[in-house]
Parts: sequence; C-alpha cells; structure tokens
Amino acid sequence: MYKYEMHCHTAETSRCSRISGADLVDFYHSIGYTGIVITDHLYNYYLKDPTQPSWPERVEFFVAGYRAAKQRGEALGMDVFFAWEYSHKRKGNDFLTYGLDMDWLLENPDLDELHINDYYDLVHRDGGYVVHAHPFREARYIDMIRLAPRKVDAVETINACRTPFENCMANLYAENYALPKICGSDNHRGPIPQLTSLDLPFRAGSVEEIVQAALRGESTLHLYQYDTERGLCEIPEDKVFCAAEKL
Ligand SMILES: [Zn+2]
Ligand SMILES: [Zn+2]
Repeated sequence: MYKYEMHCHTAETSRCSRISGADLVDFYHSIGYTGIVITDHLYNYYLKDPTQPSWPERVEFFVAGYRAAKQRGEALGMDVFFAWEYSHKRKGNDFLTYGLDMDWLLENPDLDELHINDYYDLVHRDGGYVVHAHPFREARYIDMIRLAPRKVDAVETINACRTPFENCMANLYAENYALPKICGSDNHRGPIPQLTSLDLPFRAGSVEEIVQAALRGESTLHLYQYDTERGLCEIPEDKVFCAAEKL
C-alpha cells in the first residue's frame, strides 16, 4: 500500500504551523509515507505575513511552503502535492480543496469575500474537489456546526487532532449522507501523538488521482498513535470513534 498525508501545514505560509515544508517532508519520509498534500490555510487571517499588497504577491507567498516541500520531496523521491484549506470567514467552516493550482488562485482574487455556496460552485466548475475538514470540531472560534451535504465531495471523518467523539460524528454524517470519506492529520508540527494515513493500492501521479480513488472507495483510512521510539502504531477500528461523550 502507498501512504498519503492529506492535511498538513507549513510554517512558511501558515502562521499556526511550527514546521517548515522541507522538515515536514523529511518527517513523513522517515515514517514511510509515499506522499503528502500541503494544505496551508487559504485565508488572510492565517497567513503568516498578510501584508503583501497585491493578490499575485499574496499567492506567491501562499505557495512558499509548498514550494519548499516540493523541492525537498524531489530530492528524496517523495511525492508532494499542492492543495489548500479554505477557512470561510474564520467561522470554523474549513474546506480542504484539492485539484486546483496556483494559476487558479491567481484568477480568483476575491475568495475571502465569496458566499460559501459560491465557493463550492466555483471550485466544482473548474474541476476541483471540496472536502469538509473536521466538520464537528468544537472550539471557541467556531460559531456553529454547519454542514453542506449537497455541496461537498467528501468528509474528513478521521482528523488526528480531533477527539474520537468529533470524528465519530463526522463519520455518522458521512455514512448517513453516503458521502465518501478521507482522513488527515492536520499536522502543524511534524511528530505529533496521532497521525492518519490514506492508503492507496497504487502510487498516485497527482492529488486528483488520490481524491478520485477515495471517491471510488479504493482508499483505506488509518489512525495511528505515534512516538519517536515505536513509530506508527495503528489504533484498532473499534477505538477510532467514540459515539457518546460526557459533556
Ligand atoms: Zn492551522
Ligand atoms: Zn488544517
């Protein structure tokens, strides 16, 4: 099987990340992944330096973490793909967006201002995919849990940084609406206590190939405990989700 990280952030671009693109690649290479998808936050608030005056300069800044990761990946023979996490008006509605490139960003300078329904439609019109990241995340900055089951292509049902309860709810959501599932570590640091991998039976040539395989049901999702001594230790399926939580 070929292992992929579908959700991680570089310090060059995302101000909440503590690890450079190159170090992220080194880390995932050291634990046997075939590829990683860089999903820096596409929203002004999260950009490390939001002072670039023009949109082309902001886009150039936005891809800096990906470029650094890609360069390191080429040196190591590891696949690094470009994507982003669109954080709608910083209200806790975060959408991993796959299959579009830097040119698409350059052509769409007003993404921050779009109505969320227009964002989904624009991405789909141009052949991209929208995946709802951690849809049941609970945090102070999140106004409300808000779902878009007719608009997303898939749901991130296992996020390594969320609780088994939040992931359980995401999984129930995907199951009940018959939506495809992906997983991601939401990695901002490299070695973190839990990691996910999306595994494919073939080596993907692009991020579209990974997502299309997931939509066809050809991928498997895995959650691991991780520490530097023992490496990856898979969490059994019956421990991944917890259906009830004492509030
Ligand atoms: Zn972040
Ligand atoms: Zn994220």
